[in-house]
Amino acid sequence: METLTQSQRATLEAALRELAAELEASLAQSRDAAQPVDLEDPIGRVSRMDAMQQQSMARASRHRATARLERVQAALRRMKAGEYGDCLRCDEPIGFGRLATAPEAATCVRCQSEIEASRSAG
Ligand SMILES: [Zn+2]
Repeated sequence: METLTQSQRATLEAALRELAAELEASLAQSRDAAQPVDLEDPIGRVSRMDAMQQQSMARASRHRATARLERVQAALRRMKAGEYGDCLRCDEPIGFGRLATAPEAATCVRCQSEIEASRSAG
């Protein structure tokens, strides 16, 4: 894999900032939806179950968004430190193709698949 060029790096930094802003906006927007359902609310059992289901979906999606935002912020810190674009595991360049799809990626494709393989192995 090639190391990133200056302009690729700039593209990815812009993508990371945009991603961070989007995630922050969606987290702010979904904050109310993830609030616990008020069981005293006189809305009837079915709508309450509905509300609870929506709340748990909102929570799961907030959880994913929070985790991704953390990865995005970590990537921005690595960029600031001049360490962005190299795999945290093997130190090889991650490659622009992978970063273009997932600018927050901290590992190369090979390491990522090894991590996933060892994770599913137990
Ligand atoms: Zn690697």
